[in-house]
Amino acid sequence: MYKYLFLFLFIILPSISHAKNIKLLIAGAEEKVESFKKNDIHYISFSEVVELVGGTLDWKILGHTIEFVEDKNRFEFVIGSPYFNRNDSLFNMTFPSVYKKGKLFLPAETFLRFWDEVIFQKVIWDASSETIRINSEYFNVTDISCTKKANGLLLEVFLTSALAYDIFVTEGNWINISIRDGMLNRSQIQSRMNSKFMYKLKTHQQNSTGQISIRLKRKVDKWHHKLQNNPPRIQISIADTEFELNSDDNQPTIGPDNKIDVIVIDAGHGGKHYGAVGQKNTREKDVCLSIAKELAKLIRKDKQFKVIMTRDKDKTVSLEERAEIANKSDCDLFISIHANASPKKHVKGWNVFFLAQALNDSARAVAQFENSSFLRDQEPAESVDSAPMIDYDDPIMGIINEMIMTEFQVESNDFAIMVDREFRKSLKIPARGIDQAGFFVLNKVYAPSVLLETGFITNKSEEKLLKSKKYHKKVAKAVYKAIKRFKSKYESN
Ligand SMILES: [Zn+2]
Repeated sequence: MYKYLFLFLFIILPSISHAKNIKLLIAGAEEKVESFKKNDIHYISFSEVVELVGGTLDWKILGHTIEFVEDKNRFEFVIGSPYFNRNDSLFNMTFPSVYKKGKLFLPAETFLRFWDEVIFQKVIWDASSETIRINSEYFNVTDISCTKKANGLLLEVFLTSALAYDIFVTEGNWINISIRDGMLNRSQIQSRMNSKFMYKLKTHQQNSTGQISIRLKRKVDKWHHKLQNNPPRIQISIADTEFELNSDDNQPTIGPDNKIDVIVIDAGHGGKHYGAVGQKNTREKDVCLSIAKELAKLIRKDKQFKVIMTRDKDKTVSLEERAEIANKSDCDLFISIHANASPKKHVKGWNVFFLAQALNDSARAVAQFENSSFLRDQEPAESVDSAPMIDYDDPIMGIINEMIMTEFQVESNDFAIMVDREFRKSLKIPARGIDQAGFFVLNKVYAPSVLLETGFITNKSEEKLLKSKKYHKKVAKAVYKAIKRFKSKYESN
């Protein structure tokens, strides 16, 4: 009897401990990976492991599946199921996969051995020290260095043998080195981040192509490169130009430094783009602008911040222009304000979105609506040709696009959580919560970004609310509180 009672209690009270980190030892470097324990099973953030080790995780829009591709291996996980596909065979890891805060968590004990069977490196899980060990002798892009020379900057990428590579410079003084058949020692390379010369250092492993991207604190105008021997290395010299920043003294006071102080507020639609229209003819563009202005007013009172609005009156601003305004300002947060619409008049509530592929149909519908409401009014030729389209067949463009998608995903998701918390506290309308979807306006902005749907303009009671200044102020106040929270979490001193 007691035995059964105990079992019963155990079943209804599964023990879920709070999130903590486990260790990941890779190429002698120690990394941290988020984990939690559920009924004594260690769940690890596989999303973070992939970030560190390489490969790509792809969210499938339908069916809640996540695909992981690494070299020649393809894994497919179904959220909430212990079964997964590996190269079209079904395996069972005993415990279900978990989706939490935009990340895929897998049971370390029972999953990692399946991974070990197919990857180049030896994967060992040590439960007693909560460590994943990855033996990684197979790296052939081993290190980088960045040194100041009399007339410029010298970047070197060290290889174990000569490899084919491409170098290209992208907007914002990013220099990107893409190495074919290059397996990056990412933790070693990442450790060379040097704030004297760089705003950012990113590494990306996609199948057998390794890419290193560095956002330099200088203009990349004149540069040349060469493959050298003894030791094999790619040398890139970037010549000084008269426009460049003095790397020591003349630091910009805003932008991608370690301060969170430049906030871009994007009032959705405007001018000839009305957005959604309510039953009483309330126009989304007017609601967005009013909330955006209230928010700007509130933030401007706080002298720690600088506010930039993509529009402060009723005018047409294209998606490209919005992104350009944000990127030119080197903003730390991008907040796009909207009101939602549905053909079903009873649908109510607010949503917070951050950029990623849509996980479900309703998130996809919102993204489609917000994206299309801009495209609809454009000249057909213009909308197809003038927008810089991404060529997905070009592996380099694929990498860049994915970097934009994932670079700020953690911060964007985190900020979305903070807004969600404030909205739940202060808005009386139903919480539809956080979701992820692919918005055009967000995916060209180089900063953590969210899109807020502040209520349904197509619902009678919410339309009334969306017209009221009081509600605009309430939304603005909640967002401002979230910004403060974000600042205190992410700002390094
Ligand atoms: Zn909208």
